[in-house]
Amino acid sequence: MNSLPYVFLALFGSVVASFGHVVGHRMGKGDSIIAPRSHCPYCHRFLRWYELIPLFSWMVQRGRCRTCQRSIPIHYFLMECLACCFFPLFPSFVGWSPELLVALSFLLFLLIISVSDLCYLIIPHRILLYFSILLGIERLFIPFDPWWLMVVGGAVGFFTLYLVLLVSKGGIGGGDVKLMGVVGLVLGWQLVLLAIILATFCGSLYVGILLLFRQSVTKGMLLPFGPFLAIGSLAAYVMGDSLVTWYFSTFLALLP
Ligand SMILES: [Zn+2]
Repeated sequence: MNSLPYVFLALFGSVVASFGHVVGHRMGKGDSIIAPRSHCPYCHRFLRWYELIPLFSWMVQRGRCRTCQRSIPIHYFLMECLACCFFPLFPSFVGWSPELLVALSFLLFLLIISVSDLCYLIIPHRILLYFSILLGIERLFIPFDPWWLMVVGGAVGFFTLYLVLLVSKGGIGGGDVKLMGVVGLVLGWQLVLLAIILATFCGSLYVGILLLFRQSVTKGMLLPFGPFLAIGSLAAYVMGDSLVTWYFSTFLALLP
């Protein structure tokens, strides 16, 4: 087996994660992606090229800025590690096919909105717009059968969460609603529904764990739902078909 493509995907993953992290932060704050150059958020010193190498820079600097010695949050490093491990797995899910392009764009999209929602409780409109165009075009070239199922998927994702927004009286954000519209383009209507179910399950589990450790979960507490929707969407994309098959084969077998 030639391992070179997998090594390339691992490196590509860590670079994309690093880039996605910066975009998520900057767009969440409403800043430009391009200017100013990458800098330390504390002392504002511009970073040199060798401080921008994913994984490597963080390890060499032992997680600290070289000038002000303030610590660089570990989630930068963890996100890059995760992408480095996860990207090479994708060919085993979708094969070395054009769908790989959709998979990697989708992963980048979910990463950016998760960072932005976690740090600033916002899913930027611009990100949703850019990626709805990119992923929409990709789905047109690598289509469902029939192709218009992507439109149905987008509508189902959007309106399902819109309904949740109405019923919960603002319990989720408008960004979440649009997010699932974009996700629906990629997943189609069955899997986008599964993604929402999985996200709700993960979110409830998280709140349950918070309660278990007696953290205060108050009624007005703002909990970003975006990262849970991202986890649910990724899980539905990667193993949705087998999950649905397993579910029906298990439960239909229980019927008399
Ligand atoms: Zn600094």
